[in-house]
Amino acid sequence: MSAFRVSIIGAGLAGSEAAWQLACRDIKVDLYEMRPHRYSPAHQTDRCAELVCSNSLRADDWQHNAVGLLHQEMRLLDSLILSAADANRTPAGGALATDRQEFSSWITDKITNHPNITLIREERTAIPEHDLTLIATGPLTSDALANQLEALVGSDRLYFYDSLAPIVHLESIDFSKAFRQSRYDKGGADYINCPLDEVQYRTFIEALNTAEQVPCRPFEKPVYFEGCLPIEVMAARGPETLRFGPMKPVGLNNPHQGGATPYAVLQLRQDNQLGTLWNLVGFQTKLTWPEQKRIFRTIPGLENAEFARLGAIHRNTYINGPSVLDSHLRLKTRPTIFMAGQITGVEGYVESAASGLMSALFIAHLLQHDRLPEPPPAETAHGALLRHVTQGDPTHFQPMNVNFGLFPPLTERCRKVDRKPMMAKRALEALEIWKNNT
Ligand SMILES: Cc1cc2nc3c(=O)[nH]c(=O)nc-3n(C[C@H](O)[C@H](O)[C@H](O)COP(=O)(O)OP(=O)(O)OC[C@H]3O[C@@H](n4cnc5c(N)ncnc54)[C@H](O)[C@@H]3O)c2cc1C
Repeated sequence: MSAFRVSIIGAGLAGSEAAWQLACRDIKVDLYEMRPHRYSPAHQTDRCAELVCSNSLRADDWQHNAVGLLHQEMRLLDSLILSAADANRTPAGGALATDRQEFSSWITDKITNHPNITLIREERTAIPEHDLTLIATGPLTSDALANQLEALVGSDRLYFYDSLAPIVHLESIDFSKAFRQSRYDKGGADYINCPLDEVQYRTFIEALNTAEQVPCRPFEKPVYFEGCLPIEVMAARGPETLRFGPMKPVGLNNPHQGGATPYAVLQLRQDNQLGTLWNLVGFQTKLTWPEQKRIFRTIPGLENAEFARLGAIHRNTYINGPSVLDSHLRLKTRPTIFMAGQITGVEGYVESAASGLMSALFIAHLLQHDRLPEPPPAETAHGALLRHVTQGDPTHFQPMNVNFGLFPPLTERCRKVDRKPMMAKRALEALEIWKNNT
């Protein structure tokens, strides 16, 4: 019989995956789930791993899509969540969609019938001092536990709302229009600037004022901090508001127009250490995703922009991973506590489950070998996600879906069309080696 016992708080996507992985390695798991005694504002059933919104786990094409690659890696690691999605798949073209009810019933059956898992229907309101515990309470963590976590990590490192600006891939920016410069040339040429003339700026403001927005859910109040207003709210305050705010052109000289100061400017700031992803500064927004693509591509230099992430503002409890977590998803200040799922700063069903899988592998290795394993290599989708939440820039840290911009670039030259398939092949080979050596 196993001598090891781990507590997991939250039987969502991450917690269910982690419980299964530990149980299959002969580790006893107490899995705490507050439903049905207490429901989050989005959950509607008492089942494990409930999909609270869409029934899609997004694109399944592993050669061209980073989330498809993450699916494939999870299949390689015997993921419970991927098995459930595959077993209950519904037709959805190239996407991996699943029957929502069957999916979570299938997982609940697996969890409740595993002899190493005890599912305890209870809200945990305190964080254990000594017991090995995995916190996987998700974007709608109950208030009592969130307060405890806040006390542990600091109020400036736990957030309750996402306020996300879009991010684009560097290679999709047109530098015959954009230019690199910092305002007043302070520091290096750290920003990418997309200049607008007066007509382009007015057309942009008009588009913002008539664009479709995502409605707030009943549990989301549209309360915004003045320093972090959505751009459409700023545009609605008057045509000059953005030009005196995030789009101010002062201190910038457009080399494509003899050094003239543009009428307005969109600035992009580097978002990852690799320099492959760039964030649209101050462009947090609640516009719908199709509207964001349509309107932001009217900005000179972004006509062919490929978005690694689109803007959003929604309820989301998450920590500042890079300042709070070590490289194995443990709290730096209390290493008996591991974290997993959306609360670590990954975004989405699949990414949350993948992070639960990684935490479980780390915990199992620690218990059975008395040391932590090497984390998965940065070239893998798991490794790229892990590095985002543990080694990203803590000053500008924001949640992120998996995307190829998080991966180290290829060292060999190749045609653009071959790049993603080559990165995907490199990832699967690296994961196979890591799995065999771990
Ligand atoms: C409204 C909404 C819509 C979304 N839509 C999508 C979408 O369409 N596609 C997508 O990919 N992602 C979506 N997401 C994000 C998605 O919910 C998460 O990516 C995913 O569910 C996170 O997995 P998780 O395991 O971290 O958290 P969850 O799946 O939320 O699981 C956390 C679990 O912890 C439990 N819990 C919380 N506090 C406690 C406590 N103190 N004690 C015991 N149990 C507790 C909860 O009841 C829950 O079961 C959405 C999120 C929200 C809020």
